[in-house]
Amino acid sequence: MTLYCATTNPGKLREFRLAAERLGRNVEIATLPNLSSIDPAEETGDTFEENAVLKAVYYSAHAPGPLFADDSGLEVAALGGEPGVRSARFAGAAATDQANNLLLLEKLRGLEHCVARFVCVIALAERGALLATFRGVVEGEILHEPRGPNGFGYDPLFFYPPFGCSFGEVSGDRKLLVSHRGQALRQLLAAYGG
Ligand code: IMP
Repeated sequence: MTLYCATTNPGKLREFRLAAERLGRNVEIATLPNLSSIDPAEETGDTFEENAVLKAVYYSAHAPGPLFADDSGLEVAALGGEPGVRSARFAGAAATDQANNLLLLEKLRGLEHCVARFVCVIALAERGALLATFRGVVEGEILHEPRGPNGFGYDPLFFYPPFGCSFGEVSGDRKLLVSHRGQALRQLLAAYGG
């Protein structure tokens, strides 16, 4: 079966496809064919759930089959949960990963032990109606400088204690085993993955 997604984030898309390859017996992940001609959904929610649901419901009305949307981000305890739902636009509307990472380091300068977590909520919808949501969380710490060339977003700053390294230093497969997105995708594919 085909599950559509509506992301323009190449890092997320790589992880979706890897998960389908590893876990979805008969699932192909396809980007919404006419995505660039659809006005982007406004992410007006205060929670990952709200944003995932509004994106899935909105984009699925334009999809030929079931579509899922991922809303995810980093919550840093010392910043009261920031950047949270604003993770992609922490340093501004069209901020790069590098700008977001630099701002994070600046805000945490001088703090010793910064616990943080990644959260991912995936919502699945069909023809404008919500079918289900799935949530994953992974706990870690923020490093004082980026480490590793892999992953995307805040991965090089996210130290995962059980691995003894950052998410920027592990393969896609290894990250998927424990990550917030890996957890949510496993639930999605177990429920709808053929
Ligand atoms: P969204 O597209 O509004 O869901 O924002 C997601 C943002 O959260 C990304 O652009 C990254 O900044 C951050 N993020 C979410 N998941 C990850 C991850 O697995 N690694 C690193 N950063 C992530």
